Amino acid sequence: MTSSNPNILLIYTGGTIGMVKDFETGSLKAFNFNKLLKSIPELKLLDCEIATVSFDTPIDSSNMNIQEWVKLASIIEENYNQYDGFVVLHGSDTMSYSASALSFMLENLDKPVVFTGSQLPIGDLRTDAKENLITAIQVASLQHKGKPVISEVCLYFEYKLYRGNRTTKISAEHFNAFTSPNLTCLVESGVHLKVNEEILLKPTGKKIEIHKQFDDNVAVVKLFPGVNHHVMKAILSAENLKGIVLETYGAGNAPTEEWFVNLLSEAIQKGIHVVNVTQCSGGSVNMGHYETSSQLKQIGVISGKDITTEAAITKLMYLLGQNVAPSVFKTIFETSLRGEMN
Ligand code: ASP
Repeated sequence: MTSSNPNILLIYTGGTIGMVKDFETGSLKAFNFNKLLKSIPELKLLDCEIATVSFDTPIDSSNMNIQEWVKLASIIEENYNQYDGFVVLHGSDTMSYSASALSFMLENLDKPVVFTGSQLPIGDLRTDAKENLITAIQVASLQHKGKPVISEVCLYFEYKLYRGNRTTKISAEHFNAFTSPNLTCLVESGVHLKVNEEILLKPTGKKIEIHKQFDDNVAVVKLFPGVNHHVMKAILSAENLKGIVLETYGAGNAPTEEWFVNLLSEAIQKGIHVVNVTQCSGGSVNMGHYETSSQLKQIGVISGKDITTEAAITKLMYLLGQNVAPSVFKTIFETSLRGEMN
């Protein structure tokens, strides 16, 4: 690594981008990504030095979990000083969860960590993988006066770089598979890379800290008209439950029926954290705006504001893993830690 070009580490965790078709079954399965990369001569034309590392057993991202996040964070930790940026190749299905989780794990990040993947394998004739991969590497290589332009966990897909913990997967069909409902993109790729400087997170100037403790005693509960007492009670009585993300209606509204409010109130009294996020694909929770959310505010429900469900559940697992004291849990959750909420 003698060149002055940025050094980028490509980390392959799995996902369609590196899969090939099993001719016997017809299903896509993970393949040796390093071999596949050799078939992309374009990578040699980039103004950066690229090294690659792959999970020993690449996974479909449906199998992502806390252990795999720790594995990924550890690879970044071990290589942090040697590289100027990291590109994580990941299945699109749970990419928003992983990008959110990593954003919380990597405190005081001062280099780019760019997640990307594709809807079609990189070997496919009509693949979207090449553009995603090449531009993700270019974005991770952007420097100004010898310092990385991007110093946060992001997600690049189909001409847009988003803050990772603001994204959600919206399509299993279109190449444009992600959106960031409450924050515009950080970079748009057209003829030029247009960087939205004013919304980028600035480095804190402190040393990076990598947090690997997550607590999985959590649940996501999506409300629907007709939700019944027994089901809610069963969920809230689950053994060891420590927190739930409650997907409510509109600006954070929920049934005002006594049984419902009492169940939530008892859970909160027992120390279970209840986070209110909206089912809407955009906008924010505003408890107290309608009568149907005032009761939630009164009993101590946490406002998820405009956070995505993906960022809310990973933030919950992260804060529980950090053993944040119950007296400050609500205040800390309602504070933006990595730009995940307004
Ligand atoms: N099922 C795949 C995964 O998430 C889909 C993809 O790679 O986009 O791993």
